[in-house]
Amino acid sequence: MKYYILFGPPGAGKGTHAVAIAKKYNLKHISTGELLRAEISSGSELGQQAQSLISAGHLVPDSIVEGMIEHAFDTYTEVDGFLLDGFPRNIAQAEDLDKILAKRAKQLKGVISIMIPDEVVKTRIAKRAAVEGRADDASEETINNRIRTYHAQTEPLIEYYKEKGCYYECDGNQGTIEVNQRAVLELMDSIEAI
Ligand code: AMP
Repeated sequence: MKYYILFGPPGAGKGTHAVAIAKKYNLKHISTGELLRAEISSGSELGQQAQSLISAGHLVPDSIVEGMIEHAFDTYTEVDGFLLDGFPRNIAQAEDLDKILAKRAKQLKGVISIMIPDEVVKTRIAKRAAVEGRADDASEETINNRIRTYHAQTEPLIEYYKEKGCYYECDGNQGTIEVNQRAVLELMDSIEAI
């Protein structure tokens, strides 16, 4: 099993590019945001707990998402690995992921980072709100909170993974979706070749 993280700010294109990467490399794509939205739609207790935090643009408790990740690792055994999208989101989650992988005698193969500037985050999320109707895409205040949360809590992971020597970055705003996707897949090819 190989373990990858797809990293980047909200709106970087992680969800879109994850589908292509997962298909090409037979990886199970795990998006904690999608799993949480499914919990909210099902009306589960967990979903109810997460809903107000998500709609305010805050993170949900680490224990909730870590439980989801471990459950997925235990469930999908017929794949060549996992592509984590939206997890980890802070240093504590990254440290816990290290422990979860160590328990399985595994380590991360790479962090594929897709970078876009804040102004592009805002325009892309506004467009996505019209297409997908995600509640947390609709309000400007929530979007600003998500950007703030990204810089304060998630961005420090770049240094964390650089120090571990497994951080690989590409520009996620080079042109059309196809052009951006080609860059992400080329980066993934180069990591796979290591
Ligand atoms: P996403 O679809 O990845 O943008 O996630 C949507 C929302 O779900 C985020 O703004 C957070 O509120 C929550 N969420 C997703 N992943 C995590 C995580 N790893 N830790 C905490 N909250 C998360």
